[in-house]
Amino acid sequence: MTSAADAQALVPAEFRELVGDHGKSPWNPSRTATGRVLNPLPAPERCACGRPVEIFHHLQVYGREFSDWPWMYRCEPCDASVGMHPFTSIPLGTLATKALRETRKACKQPFELLWQTGRMDRAAAYGGLARHLRIPVEECHFGWFDAETCQRARDWAVKSLRGQPA
Ligand SMILES: [Zn+2]
Repeated sequence: MTSAADAQALVPAEFRELVGDHGKSPWNPSRTATGRVLNPLPAPERCACGRPVEIFHHLQVYGREFSDWPWMYRCEPCDASVGMHPFTSIPLGTLATKALRETRKACKQPFELLWQTGRMDRAAAYGGLARHLRIPVEECHFGWFDAETCQRARDWAVKSLRGQPA
């Protein structure tokens, strides 16, 4: 068993003030939460620009916390970033520039309508999209997609919403 003091010692000094009352941080994540993440991606180490990726807290980037787990991987000069699964150090997807983050968000909207409107259930929507993209359903996450895959996913969702065969 590690004591709270030992766990705190794992946290780089400049981040210690930012750790929540639960004491968990990307440096001493929750084992339960970590074990629950299916198909975890490795932590990004290097940005496409060649610089090392670092951990940031929301307060450092946005000046406020946007979730209960306000941590992210980031290349500061590029503003390329990705969040983490709650209470883990596992990235939610691949490192993305602002442009790619916006593309992912915009292209996910019509896809989400597929199941939010009851046209199909969520599992069927992901299954259908994975088949269309010819990727395993375990890898079918917008947070993992590049811009081109996002567009293909969007086009498929829009066609499916219109009831056209994709
Ligand atoms: Zn970079």
